[in-house]
Amino acid sequence: MHQCFYLDGEHYTSLNRLVKGKLSAPNDILILVKKTSIYIHIPFCERRCRYCDFNTYSGIDYLMQDYVKAVCREIKWMGSYCPEDVLIHTIYFGGGTPSLLSIELSEQILNQIHQNFHLASPPEITLEANPGTIDFEKIKGYYQLGVNRLSLGAQSFNDQELKLLGRIHNIQQIIEGVELARRAGFSQINLDLMFGLPDQSINDWEKTLFAALQLDVEHLSLYGLTIEPGTVFGEWLKKGKISDIDDDLAADCYELACDLLDQNHYEHYEISNWAKRDTEGNLLTCRHNLQYWKNLPYFGFGAGAHGFFNNMRIANVYHPDVYIKKINQGYPLEFPLSPATIESHYVTKSEEMNDTLMLGLRLLIEGVGVNDFYQRFGKDLTLIFGDKIQELINKGLLEWVEAEQKRLRLTPRAYLLGNVVFREFV
Ligand code: SF4
Repeated sequence: MHQCFYLDGEHYTSLNRLVKGKLSAPNDILILVKKTSIYIHIPFCERRCRYCDFNTYSGIDYLMQDYVKAVCREIKWMGSYCPEDVLIHTIYFGGGTPSLLSIELSEQILNQIHQNFHLASPPEITLEANPGTIDFEKIKGYYQLGVNRLSLGAQSFNDQELKLLGRIHNIQQIIEGVELARRAGFSQINLDLMFGLPDQSINDWEKTLFAALQLDVEHLSLYGLTIEPGTVFGEWLKKGKISDIDDDLAADCYELACDLLDQNHYEHYEISNWAKRDTEGNLLTCRHNLQYWKNLPYFGFGAGAHGFFNNMRIANVYHPDVYIKKINQGYPLEFPLSPATIESHYVTKSEEMNDTLMLGLRLLIEGVGVNDFYQRFGKDLTLIFGDKIQELINKGLLEWVEAEQKRLRLTPRAYLLGNVVFREFV
């Protein structure tokens, strides 16, 4: 057995490279230094929701087997070029509707990751599920594969709202989904909820929040609806069939959520995300999303997936059909590009510093640490962005906090004005 140690003192074991015959001596010790994440895009949905502008499709389930094969090829391709010092510590099945994948197909993807990358022991593995597509056998199957975090797209606890949104599930299925997940063994469950829906009153939203609180899940993600062109809601808005978002009401909904969740022991750790603590005091955040917010590396596999590795931002071709063809025709490209890459961009140090600050400020408790920034870039945050930071402090939007290190973060006043702050660092 090979032992792997991560330099920050966390300890992992990994046998994966043995399978590939990459290690020669039985007592090799690997030093793993680059914590990295994997995102897998599953672009299938039973039916398109009326507000959805994600890269997802209904009526193409016949592609699913070939799609998974192509994803597996892409994983293998990337794994074969991936440096030895990369440790995968989070995996995220997003979509689309990953819970449309059978256990067998999900297993094929996870096996491919196990065989081609070093994995933390255990990695956080999240799967997004639509409450209208799950039963106990499926949920248990995912859990047995190592999926240890379930994210349920609940969106609302009002059946009329769910219908208006075009969701395929009802309230009862959300409640049952959480119960099934608990029975299967999940101790980390997230619910996605949306506010600012057409004709939604603050009381409607409050009822949704109360219903979600009843389920006592570990994590809540709350998003304000946006109406995008090209969606059914976009068309309806043009025709006057629905009213436009009321920004003031949406702001009231957000503030109500901040108060209610705070009273119910959820900590507001990111602009749209709240988490509880476990019995040992650990905040049950989504570690995968923290990787994005900390501007750290990740691979993206599948149609339209994005990646960030070796200072390259990469995007794959959107349509699953084209994705499959491109992967199958695969030709040698320079790592970390894949045969399905349609866009890549080299991130300069100065862009990386801007991104790190802009994304890090989304973290409301942690913010951006001066020491962390210095360790990463060898530069003093206050010297690089001093004037802009001071300007935003004067406006009451940023503040310094002194914990174990000096940190810059948003003031509560800025939670709703995040974009005003982020724009300064673009
Ligand atoms: S289930 Fe999610 S990804 Fe699928 S159409 Fe609805 S909002 Fe879009």
